[in-house]
Amino acid sequence: METLAAHKPAGRPKRQAALPRSLSRSLSRSLLPPLLLGWAGMMSAHGEPAAAFQWPGGARAAVSLSYDDALDSQLDNALPALNAHGFRASFYLTLASPVVSQRLPEWRRAAAAGHELGNHTLFHPCSRSAPGRDWVAPHRDLDKISVAQMREEVQLANAYLQAIDGQSRRTYTAPCTDPLAGGQPYLPAVRGEFVAMKTRVGGVVPSLAALDLGDVATAGPAGVSGAELIAIVRQAADKGTLASITFHGIGGDHLSVSKQAHQALLQHLADHPELYWVDSFVNIASYLQARRKP
Ligand SMILES: [Zn+2]
Repeated sequence: METLAAHKPAGRPKRQAALPRSLSRSLSRSLLPPLLLGWAGMMSAHGEPAAAFQWPGGARAAVSLSYDDALDSQLDNALPALNAHGFRASFYLTLASPVVSQRLPEWRRAAAAGHELGNHTLFHPCSRSAPGRDWVAPHRDLDKISVAQMREEVQLANAYLQAIDGQSRRTYTAPCTDPLAGGQPYLPAVRGEFVAMKTRVGGVVPSLAALDLGDVATAGPAGVSGAELIAIVRQAADKGTLASITFHGIGGDHLSVSKQAHQALLQHLADHPELYWVDSFVNIASYLQARRKP
């Protein structure tokens, strides 16, 4: 199943620019705990108006750590590091991967510990016509799969995930962030199956008020340093919004980030509970959804 493990996200994973050190310092000094419930106008560290939103514990930003493709290094390296800090994350499983069937009890234990098992389809279909996609098997070419087929695949993946973890609410990350099946938009056809969806490569959410939970951007770092990862979540704290980071391998496998860089991010998050609420994407999205209801 080489092709499953060899996936690359669409486009190039964007590295986030590191924040200037002066901004980082002013951030940690100037952040006051939000006093207002719900939405309110507030000034950011730059003195610009920013949408303030009360995250649990008075945190400035929510952080969704996610791990795509069901990889060995995630169970071996990422999961123990997350558990050591008491952080809950989202693992987007490609269900046909042998790492799911061979290590099923470990995925089940991860879910029992509060991590989300997210939907990343059964077979990870991606558009073979996109640049650099020679690795996509012809029978998994999203260009040749209809919207109806993709919808069934996604629904069956949800049923398989429910058999593993007993949960009926979860989120989705689109394989390769490709939006078209057979040339037609397929994401609207699966939107109703999920609390929220990560559908594109991008940076930190600029505004919670304008955020579409069915079209959330996520950073896709690979080969980056701990400082580069920390810069992403610091941007979210500055904006008072949400940072989503999609990892693949941790200390191994493809598109990998080193164990040291990953650990540096987790340590930074653990050191600043006043800035960050770290949780699974389904919990973060559910919280946002509940606060939006009149
Ligand atoms: Zn993937």
